[in-house]
Amino acid sequence: MKIAITGGKGGTGKSTIATALALELSTDNKVLLVDADVECPDDHIILSTTREKVGDVHAILPSFDQEKCLKCGRCSEVCKENAVVFIKDKYPFIVSKQCNGCGACILTCPSGALTEGQQVIGAIYQGKCQQPYLKQEHDLLLLWGEMEVGCENTSMVVNATREYAENRTSDYDCMLIDTAAGTHCNVISAMVDVDLALAVAEPTPLGRHDLELILQLLKIMKVSTKIIVNRSDIGELKLIEEVSQENDVPIIQKVPYERDILKKHSRGQPVIHKNIEELAYVLSEKS
Ligand code: SF4
Ligand code: SF4
Repeated sequence: MKIAITGGKGGTGKSTIATALALELSTDNKVLLVDADVECPDDHIILSTTREKVGDVHAILPSFDQEKCLKCGRCSEVCKENAVVFIKDKYPFIVSKQCNGCGACILTCPSGALTEGQQVIGAIYQGKCQQPYLKQEHDLLLLWGEMEVGCENTSMVVNATREYAENRTSDYDCMLIDTAAGTHCNVISAMVDVDLALAVAEPTPLGRHDLELILQLLKIMKVSTKIIVNRSDIGELKLIEEVSQENDVPIIQKVPYERDILKKHSRGQPVIHKNIEELAYVLSEKS
């Protein structure tokens, strides 16, 4: 079973819940947790995992041959990313961090001055839990993608991380994917082909607004969805209950705002909570 843990809004506790759920599920199942928040992956910090690089993620970067260049400027005209700086009668300059590797400039160049090169835009890592606070054995592997500093092709790194994970799913009972916040391309890439999405929301007006957005996206993607309310005992739970009813998406669990959860989170210790245990039980029954 593939489950995405998502949520329209940043800071809702998505990663806290994803890591806690992965830990609970991995006491009885082989679990692959994928942190697809490639701009800011933090599951490995929360779980204090080992860190092993398993590969780089590459993208096309045009390679420039000055001798062949006609200084026509067509490469700059076709570049939608504004990655080619061109000044009349000068040679073009490619801003590599801004290039998304679409290859349009290479196809357009009339003289063959641009050819296909490569740049590293990110990397994929894996890690095992080495938490001294865990009392049980956990069969949990964490995979995560990390962007190269300054690069912007986040979707490519998410896709490469997902692809790497997909090739290993046969070894696992369950794959959890912790997405980035929001409803942008990275989030969509992370949730393609999942069996279930858990939308984590907090009971605030902004939480309601962003939950509505992610539910709209999941409806378009035709992904079965359930809501988890985090910090459910502060704010206005009614706000999330209304969205749940209006969209016919059930609230599957509520996680209260507790000092112990905060303490564990701030100390880099995994959160173990009876409500997450219950959630893991319900999900295990379904899978
Ligand atoms: S490969 Fe695409 S994004 Fe990169 S410089 Fe060429 S046109 Fe621009
Ligand atoms: S399209 Fe080719 S020939 Fe024209 S300026 Fe760009 S690199 Fe030079």
